[in-house]
Amino acid sequence: MTPVTIERIETRLVDLPTIRPHKLSVATMHGQTLMLVKVYCSDGVSGIGEGTTIAGMAYGPESPEAMKLAIDAYFAPAMIGADATRIQALMAHLGKLIKVNHFAKSALETALLDAHGKRLGVPVSDLLGGRRRERLPVAWTLASGDTARDIAEAESMLDARRHKVFKLKIGAKELKADIKHVADIKKVVGDRAAVRVDVNMAWSETQAAWAIPALADAGCELVEQPVASAVALSRLMRRFPVALMADEILQGPESAFEIARNNGADVFALKIEQSGGLFAAQRVAAIADAAGIELYGGTMLEGAFSTIASAHLFASLASLQWGTELFGPLLITEEILAKPLDYSDFELTVPDGPGLGIELDEARVRRFTRDGLIKVTR
Ligand SMILES: [Mg+2]
Repeated sequence: MTPVTIERIETRLVDLPTIRPHKLSVATMHGQTLMLVKVYCSDGVSGIGEGTTIAGMAYGPESPEAMKLAIDAYFAPAMIGADATRIQALMAHLGKLIKVNHFAKSALETALLDAHGKRLGVPVSDLLGGRRRERLPVAWTLASGDTARDIAEAESMLDARRHKVFKLKIGAKELKADIKHVADIKKVVGDRAAVRVDVNMAWSETQAAWAIPALADAGCELVEQPVASAVALSRLMRRFPVALMADEILQGPESAFEIARNNGADVFALKIEQSGGLFAAQRVAAIADAAGIELYGGTMLEGAFSTIASAHLFASLASLQWGTELFGPLLITEEILAKPLDYSDFELTVPDGPGLGIELDEARVRRFTRDGLIKVTR
């Protein structure tokens, strides 16, 4: 049998507007840039993957531009001619040639899995061992920066039966103002919705120790990455009646093991990009399960391709106690798929077609594709 090889790899940057500014403690986003990579194989099958960051380089060391450059200059030359069907072996080979670059690796692995699923006529979730659930609960992030606007947004999401779990982005304001913001929102939604917060590492350990009990009193059930340090997070564990979640400090299986060993979190925010791909994220989930750490399906505010790649993985996990936040495509104003995703009844349906089970609307995306590497703003 002739092996199926990789013939060509194309990358592009797609700049898309967001429905509103998205305020985090680290930055305010006014749009989202997707790095899309397409892998063409010798059997005529191709696959698409996505690399997306939160607020350019404000969140982590990779940017969409850096991913495009790394793939064009380093990954692609090492992949051309390689067997497209032996994905884990190829990713291990690339791991030896190219350090870190977790987001770029996740995008490429997604494209290879999309292509292989199409080749075999099975969804990506089947390549990961088979799905255990068809639909995933999806939380929404309230991050307009304004309490009244966030409450109105929460009400409209509840009315539309789209989300009943709200994550509030806090940490940019004074502690008392942030706590009041959380308490005011929880008071209005009451038992109709769960409220959680993401501090994105903004607090010191003493600030966190002061604020978390007040958040618990306000009815907040989960605090995500209140502090930057893994050691500080582990010292905060078991002191409050709310769950503490690790996100930024969770950078793949090795860090997952370290956090687990130090009793450093109640919950992991599992992300395919931050982990270094779907298989790496699968290993993070296995470590969590073994350590009794609960799982939450996280997002890098990704567009449809990385969101659905994540959905295939999350659908296949043994445990997913805290649901997901796979709302990234809903934050973007433009539909980039030929057929939109199904977000309904507070959940996302995991597509069941071959590969990722979604199709890019090429003509539409062309209009938003950046010319060159650098975005020219005038
Ligand atoms: Mg987070």
